[in-house]
Amino acid sequence: MKIQNIDFDTYFKQYPDKNGFFGKYGGAYIPDDLKKAMEEITEAYYTICKSSKFISELRQIRRDFQGRPTPISHLDRLSTELGGVQLYVKREDLNHTGAHKLNHCMGEALLAKYMGKKKVIAETGAGQHGVALATAAAYFGLECDIYMGAVDIKKQAPNVARMKILGANVIEVSEGLATLKEAVDAAFVAYCKEYKDCIYCIGSTVGPHPFPMMVRDFQSVVGIEAREQFLNLTGELPDAVVACVGGGSNAMGLFSGFLNDPVDIYGVEPLGRGKTLGDHAASLAYGTEGIMHGFNSIMLKDENGEPAPVYSVASGLDYPSSGPEHAFLRDLGRVKYDVVNDDETIHAFFTLAKLEGIIPAIESSHAVAYAMKLAKKMGKGSILINLSGRGDKDMDYVIEKYGIR
Ligand SMILES: *Cc1c(COP(=O)(O)O)cnc(C)c1O
Repeated sequence: MKIQNIDFDTYFKQYPDKNGFFGKYGGAYIPDDLKKAMEEITEAYYTICKSSKFISELRQIRRDFQGRPTPISHLDRLSTELGGVQLYVKREDLNHTGAHKLNHCMGEALLAKYMGKKKVIAETGAGQHGVALATAAAYFGLECDIYMGAVDIKKQAPNVARMKILGANVIEVSEGLATLKEAVDAAFVAYCKEYKDCIYCIGSTVGPHPFPMMVRDFQSVVGIEAREQFLNLTGELPDAVVACVGGGSNAMGLFSGFLNDPVDIYGVEPLGRGKTLGDHAASLAYGTEGIMHGFNSIMLKDENGEPAPVYSVASGLDYPSSGPEHAFLRDLGRVKYDVVNDDETIHAFFTLAKLEGIIPAIESSHAVAYAMKLAKKMGKGSILINLSGRGDKDMDYVIEKYGIR
């Protein structure tokens, strides 16, 4: 398939280019010290990802530790309720630790091991990335330092406990507002000092090159499995695929399997409480081009051009930018990005639980909510949704804020 000058037959060989660009988006806008560290990681990754030893070890981990392949489930009752369109979910909620994040954390930690590093470092906000990385570090016997704002440590006590039980050091950051931004800053400072012995593991398809590419490649197992499974199940490809977009890793994982197919692709961003800046985190829908956290993409800015405060009912989606590849695919028109708000999301959360016996993560409920609207619009055909995670982590919050519906 060809769009403008882009031939999707050879897309993954062309994008990103050797400097990490997807068109004008991506790159590595970082201090010289870190540039060296990123180049070392890039070189190691390019070597290792062609090595049959690395690939077979990763495959064995995916099968025996993560429990892959995850299945695709047909949403029979929901499909009937919505009319003629058949809905399916790719069950990343059944991946070990309950979400897709382990797909790239195991890859990153395996890379650290092959590079001879002793430690992995990362920041975490709600704690989901921290738990996935602590799991990977425990598996490989690597040290793991997770930087986390003091405010988030209080709010996310169960995830903090999980990380500690898994053997990670949770390092409290009390500067400024003591949330995710300060944790990112502290983790970067630590990494600059320690980069010879450790690697910084980014939690989505964001950050400087090579992370948007590497995280996409590690997540592409989702799309590769899903395409084959869907063909086996139905004899054809889905008419549409849908995933939620925070930084964009679960979405790139699914989308990468279908970019070269006659399949409509939809990325769903959180509209939160509404369109006012500060009430949502729909960066691709309402943002403009800019550089943050070491990469060029589309971002939400405040009046000073700094990353704007953002909000979403799903803590995994409240990020003021999105991965550079999403910005690129948006401009090309290959992927359509749209939004759903908190109310639509919570409705989808309860609907999927009641009709199908699956409690989705609030992040994933955004994709379900959009697919429900799309199904009504399409009238016939099939939709495959990436169910990026399970909702156990969201129970207390949902019951306290919305009650049981
Ligand atoms: C973190 C998270 C997301 C958002 O991250 P992406 O990189 O955009 O995929 C989505 N769903 C779940 C369950 C998550 O934990």
